[in-house]
Amino acid sequence: RMPKMSGVEFLGEALDVYPDSRSALLTAYSDTEAAIKAINDLDLDYYLRKPWEPPDQNLYPVVTDLLDAWEAEAPPEVEDVRLIGPRFLAEGHALRDLLARNDFAYRWFDIEEPEAQRLLGAAGLEHPQVPVAVLHDGSVLEAPSTTELAQQLGLSVRAEREVYDLVVIGGGPAGLAASVYGGSEGLRTLLIEREAPGGQAGQSSRIENYLGFPRGLSGQDLARRFRQQAEKFNTEILAVQAAVGLERRGSSTIVKITDGTEIRAHAVIVSTGVAYRRLDKPGVEEMTGAGVYYGAAMTEGRACKDQHVIIVGAANSAGQAAIYFAENDATVTIACRGDDLRKGMSEYLV
Ligand SMILES: Cc1cc2nc3c(=O)[nH]c(=O)nc-3n(C[C@H](O)[C@H](O)[C@H](O)COP(=O)(O)OP(=O)(O)OC[C@H]3O[C@@H](n4cnc5c(N)ncnc54)[C@H](O)[C@@H]3O)c2cc1C
Repeated sequence: RMPKMSGVEFLGEALDVYPDSRSALLTAYSDTEAAIKAINDLDLDYYLRKPWEPPDQNLYPVVTDLLDAWEAEAPPEVEDVRLIGPRFLAEGHALRDLLARNDFAYRWFDIEEPEAQRLLGAAGLEHPQVPVAVLHDGSVLEAPSTTELAQQLGLSVRAEREVYDLVVIGGGPAGLAASVYGGSEGLRTLLIEREAPGGQAGQSSRIENYLGFPRGLSGQDLARRFRQQAEKFNTEILAVQAAVGLERRGSSTIVKITDGTEIRAHAVIVSTGVAYRRLDKPGVEEMTGAGVYYGAAMTEGRACKDQHVIIVGAANSAGQAAIYFAENDATVTIACRGDDLRKGMSEYLV
């Protein structure tokens, strides 16, 4: 036991000083109540029961996992990319979305800001085509497509082989799970994902009901774990490419992808999930990506600080987004057609 202070009190004081740090409590079996109190009072990330020997099984994996999650969410010291452009530009949103959802550290500069002008001046761009991406190695891209930026950042946009045992189309939770099982059985597996691994789940600000994560976790964190697990089993992930056609040729299936390439597969799994239902109202189409967004809380949340955000729809994604925007100091209004949020939203969000 620590002198003068209990472990829970110590964590409370430490979290006041370092609020973004992760916390774990080591308790004796008889102290389970202290752990439950800490979970409720301090938002504790983990509690370990003594004995924790052997540490390489019981202690180190927990600490490594907490450090990984902390590192993935900590503000970066150096950005991979600095993006410059007007705030409301669909192409700019597409690039921000690509970077945020693929775990790249980036910063967006409104073109009116002095720092944006300084960066453009340093790049020798007087009348640039926007958005402009300045990469950490100093290279500059004017109005790049998402595929060009992805390629420049080292994401794999071309398949390494011509033939695979298994091609999985769509990298949401279903496709990533299929890839993990394919890879773990030794199948040469390719996953084709047109946006970012994680799918819809990767856009969630907080997933509370995924089995095995009792404390809940962000969709980005879950997507990162899915991706790591798929890569551990040698799944090749083809980024920012969509499958656009399938054709049977002999005993193989040919998968055609956006850039015109054809990939031969012995087996194909289609796990393309669902797409957002679009709001069919005047003006919405033109403003999509430039003030109107679908499921973009994680990408746009910080940029909406001190602004008024209206969320159209009142089911779980809306509830999660409302909480996230509010936590990022926006004023939030949910536009709900029905008379009661409970009709479409899970109880834990209401
Ligand atoms: C904001 C939000 C929050 C959510 N929160 C929760 C939650 O807390 N709890 C919960 O249980 N569920 C939640 N859900 C629902 C959950 O995320 C989905 O049920 C789940 O992601 C479905 O998985 P999937 O793999 O079937 O499809 P998806 O997640 O839809 O993934 C399909 C993937 O296929 C890709 N794709 C589509 N077409 C192609 C193509 N032609 N070529 C290549 N790739 C393609 C897409 O880009 C996408 O990444 C949430 C959903 C959203 C949008």
